[in-house]
Amino acid sequence: MTHVLVINSGSSSIKFQVLDPDAGAEAAPLVVGIVERIGEETGAVRATINGQDAEVEGRIEDHADGLRRAFDLLADNDASLEKLGVVAVGHRLVHGGQDFSEPVIITDEVLDAARDNIPLAPLHNPANIKGVEVLREALPDVPQVGVFDTAFFHELPAAARTYAIDRDVAEEHSIRRYGFHGTSHEFVAGRVADHLGKRVEDLNQIIFHLGNGASASAIKGGRPVDTTMGLTPLEGLVMGTRSGSLDPGIVFHLARNADLSIDDIDQLLNKKSGLKGLAGANDFRQLGELIDKGDENAKLAFDVYIHQLRRTLGSYLVVLGGADTITFTAGVGENVAAVREAALDGLEGFGIVLDKEKNKNAKGPAVISAEDSKVTVLVVPTNEELAIARHAARFSAQQ
Ligand code: ADP
Repeated sequence: MTHVLVINSGSSSIKFQVLDPDAGAEAAPLVVGIVERIGEETGAVRATINGQDAEVEGRIEDHADGLRRAFDLLADNDASLEKLGVVAVGHRLVHGGQDFSEPVIITDEVLDAARDNIPLAPLHNPANIKGVEVLREALPDVPQVGVFDTAFFHELPAAARTYAIDRDVAEEHSIRRYGFHGTSHEFVAGRVADHLGKRVEDLNQIIFHLGNGASASAIKGGRPVDTTMGLTPLEGLVMGTRSGSLDPGIVFHLARNADLSIDDIDQLLNKKSGLKGLAGANDFRQLGELIDKGDENAKLAFDVYIHQLRRTLGSYLVVLGGADTITFTAGVGENVAAVREAALDGLEGFGIVLDKEKNKNAKGPAVISAEDSKVTVLVVPTNEELAIARHAARFSAQQ
């Protein structure tokens, strides 16, 4: 059996999985692990290997050290990469800029292009690149495939991807709507079609990927026609700690009057805004508890979240000229029935009727709309690692 190692390398942690790209979406991966607190006083590698939990603690110097320890932990548990039959590595890469419209075998040129795109994703790309560099050295004979979060949205129609600002400035600085979570939107669109026994080409879909980061997409016949995230993953829906869309004038106002630097404002909008900024909690489990206790700020945060979501839904119904399906996915989308119910409340006039019982008990993939709903509403679990593993297996086989 052949397996793929999937790497999601962040600034202070590396998530990894080993999985069978041909397994179904619900199959458990062989290995799920994380290298945590890289560069801090004490770090850790934790993994579930063939259903068994394993862990080592200790200072982890850097990404290379972390991965070495992760591979040692696997080998100590009778699951070395050789033994697991790892034939390709798939890397989740956040920002492909203008250069990448599909997964690529990572070469020196690809790495150079990824480095050139660092200004577009200063928080994510350097850590992603680090992961690639370390893996290329550790496993020089195994093909490494980069799967970009932006790739699926590369072909957005010009009207949807263009910001109405000075053309020369936009061109010089590569400013356009790139969109993110593309691997998830593409994967979920395919699963929706499979679940309904239809072809993806025959469906107009609206997908809400609601995790800590959140984005929506409008997909016509399998191709994206709009998405909420933009040049960066800050635009669009209200998120756990990100503001989502706001008047850009707020940034100038803060820069001029609040004694905040550009980096401070970046932090404010990315890390201290969204649900966290409004209610002090970015996790819906905590937010729900606060709302149950009568916390006014938590209630307002929920209402703002839903309001922005419904605005997007309304605009995408029009962008698509009507939708066949509306799908919820990721941590919030899959688990929080109250969000799905509030998002679709009172939309019978648009042919959208939720079955409240099905919604409450939904365990995706499942249809949660009523029999007489013109639009089919679904909960469909995403699985970005499996999607990356499938891309990596396919592209490494073409090498
Ligand atoms: P990301 O990949 O962006 O970090 P996820 O898709 O894992 O995010 O979603 C994480 C969020 O999903 C949490 O912050 C929380 O709000 C929500 N979530 C996850 N599981 C549950 C659950 N069982 N009940 C309620 N909310 C949940």
